[in-house]
Amino acid sequence: SVPAAILSALSAAARGGVLFKGGAALEMLAAVETFAFDKTGTLTTGRATVTQVVALDGDEAGFLSRLAGIEAQSEHHIAGAIRRAAKARGITPAPVADTVNRPGKGIVGTDPTGEIWAGNPYLAAEMGADIGHPALAALDAGAQTLVYLGRGPQLLGAVTVADEARASAAPALAALRAGGVGRIVMMTGDRPPVALRIGAELGLRPEDTHAAMLPDDKVRAVAALADRGRLAFVGDGVNDAAALARADVGIAMGAAGSEVALQAADVALLSEDLERLAHAHRLSRRTARIIR
Ligand code: ADP
Ligand code: MG
Repeated sequence: SVPAAILSALSAAARGGVLFKGGAALEMLAAVETFAFDKTGTLTTGRATVTQVVALDGDEAGFLSRLAGIEAQSEHHIAGAIRRAAKARGITPAPVADTVNRPGKGIVGTDPTGEIWAGNPYLAAEMGADIGHPALAALDAGAQTLVYLGRGPQLLGAVTVADEARASAAPALAALRAGGVGRIVMMTGDRPPVALRIGAELGLRPEDTHAAMLPDDKVRAVAALADRGRLAFVGDGVNDAAALARADVGIAMGAAGSEVALQAADVALLSEDLERLAHAHRLSRRTARIIR
């Protein structure tokens, strides 16, 4: 039978929007030495905004229409930002078919002009596109996320997307540290400058800020860290369900997260307030002391 202390901790956590799948997950959380966080949509708000647009053929509306058209097929936070930007300008997304997600990189599909793709520099490189176009040089400056649109090796343009750390992220990480968590790392598929900027805002050491990671890289990194001590992984489920499943404690940002993520996880956060997670962690430690 489950000790009363655990039952009461589980229900207290649930009242704060932190759902444990069972007492074992609560006990495991108390023993976690390292927390690994996904960036986009987890440590950041996921409510990103498009800040700059560069269309290489000059027709910005046509460019955004194609970009929004392909991003209409993606569930990534970045895709949402692009759709909102097009809508705000009164631009209708162009029809795009046969889309295939490229986890950690972007998306490919077909529009009336042929095969198109949208994604980060790693996808651009894979397509043989040269992202060194002079018109794009200014985009790199702000440590923001870059999204390129192209047709095969031909680059059609790019946008920058800005996303901010959640207000609750810094206090939550501080509370986890104060609560005995020895190491906190960030894992992201985004570019290093963006990762380092958000990491610095949150007080993470540069060596604990891992960028340019594909979903499989995240799983390998999670496995390597878990070999050295109990590990929790916190993600929103977009491209990180496997890492959630591999961690000793997988924690899914539940409200906006995907069904797959909730299945892979041991803990679901119904609120996006990361301080609720820190609170649940304190609760788990207190409970572990009581039942020991
Ligand atoms: P993270 O949550 O750390 O950003 P993801 O694996 O979800 O990790 O995404 C990694 C990167 O892949 C993003 O930063 C972005 O550059 C790129 N990406 C993923 N999906 C898309 C998309 N639909 N459109 C454009 N870029 C994308
Ligand atoms: Mg993410």
